[in-house]
Amino acid sequence: MICRKVVYRNFRNIAYAEIEPSEGVTVLNGPNGQGKTNTLEGIFLFAGGRSFRTVHENELVRFGEEFAQIDMIYHDGHRDCTMSLRFVPRVGKRFCRKNGVPLTKLSEMVGNFRAVLFCPEHLAIVRDGPAVRRRFLDTALSQTDPGYLRSLQKYNAVLNQRNALIKMARDKHDDSIFLSTASLWSEQLAEEAEKIAATRAAYVEKLDAHVSAILSDMTGGTEKASLAYQTPRTREEYLRLLTENTERELRFGATLYGTHKDDILIHLGGREARSFGSQGQQRSIALAMKIAEGELSREVTGEYPVFLFDDILSELDASRRSYLLSGIEGRQVMITSCDEIEKDCKVYLVKDGEVSQRGGV
Ligand code: ATP
Ligand code: MG
Repeated sequence: MICRKVVYRNFRNIAYAEIEPSEGVTVLNGPNGQGKTNTLEGIFLFAGGRSFRTVHENELVRFGEEFAQIDMIYHDGHRDCTMSLRFVPRVGKRFCRKNGVPLTKLSEMVGNFRAVLFCPEHLAIVRDGPAVRRRFLDTALSQTDPGYLRSLQKYNAVLNQRNALIKMARDKHDDSIFLSTASLWSEQLAEEAEKIAATRAAYVEKLDAHVSAILSDMTGGTEKASLAYQTPRTREEYLRLLTENTERELRFGATLYGTHKDDILIHLGGREARSFGSQGQQRSIALAMKIAEGELSREVTGEYPVFLFDDILSELDASRRSYLLSGIEGRQVMITSCDEIEKDCKVYLVKDGEVSQRGGV
C-alpha cells in the first residue's frame, strides 16, 4: 500500500495543501500547533473511516468554511486508486467516493486504503481499561475482514436494542417489556458474539507471536511480553449466560455478558503490564502491537499498510528510536516531529496550516 498524493481543502487549519509522500520515510516537521497531526488525521480517515481524534465530524471543517475535502491517490498493490472524502456540516453528511463511485456504507469504505496509526495516546492500549483494547482489535480487524465489521455492526445494533429494552423495563418497573422478546435478542447477540470472539481470539494469538519477537528485537531481548484474548466463548455459552442472568441484567439496567465485555490480557515478564509496566515499557508494548498489526495486515492482504507515527520519537530512548527508524525499512512511513530527524528522508515543513517540501526526493 502506497499513499502517493493527498490534497487537503479546508481540512482543520489547512486551507489548501498537497503532499506527495516518499515510498520510504516522510517526515512532517514543525513547531507545536501548526497542523502536523491534522495532516496525518486526514490520511487516517481513509483507513479507519473515522477520525482518531474526534467523533464530531464538524470539527474537521476549517473554522468558517462550508465543507472540508480530502482527495488521495494510492496504490493498492495492483493499481492506482483515488478516494475522496467530503464533509458538509450544513447537511450533516459526509460523501465518500472511490474511483469516482460513491460509497455509502462505512463497511464499503474501510479496507480499501489501509494504514496503521500510532500516537502518544496509544499508550492507553496497555494502560487503560478493556474498551481501548477492544477498539484496537475492532479497528485492526475491520480493515482486513469486511465480515468482521458487518458482524460488529449487527452486534452493536442488537446490543443497543437489548439494552434499551432492559432499561425501559427497569425504569417502568415492568420486566415483561424485556422478557417478552428477550430470547430473540439474546439469540442474535450470542450468534454474532461467537463470530466476533473467535475472530478476535485467533487474531490475538497471531499478534502475540509478533509482539514477542518485535519487543525482543526492540529491547535487545531484555523484555518479554505475552498477549491472550479473554474470553472467547461459543454461541451456546453466550446464550446460556444471557438467559440465566436476565434478572441481574434487569437490576443492573444493561446487558452484562458478551464480546462488549472482553479484553486482551497483556503480560510483561509474567506480570500484568497494565499494573506493573513502567510508562516506557507500556509505550513499547503498545508500539510493538501496532507494528505487529501491520505485519498481520500484510499476511492477510499481501501488502504492508502505510504506517503513520504521530509524535512518538521524542518519547523513545535511543535504541528503541533507531529500531523504529531502521526496523521499518521497506514500508511507507510518515512521521511527525517537532525536532529535525537525523535520517535521509523526504521532509515537509508544516507551518500555520501550510505544508511545504523542505528536503529529500
Ligand atoms: P503539536 O506539535 O503540538 O502536536 P501539531 O502541529 O500536530 O502540533 P495540530 O494538532 O495538527 O498541531 O494542529 C492544531 C491546530 O489546528 C490548532 O492550532 C487548532 O486550533 C487548529 N485547528 C483544529 N481544528 C481546526 C478547525 N476546524 N479549523 C481551524 N483550525 C483548526
Ligand atoms: Mg500533533
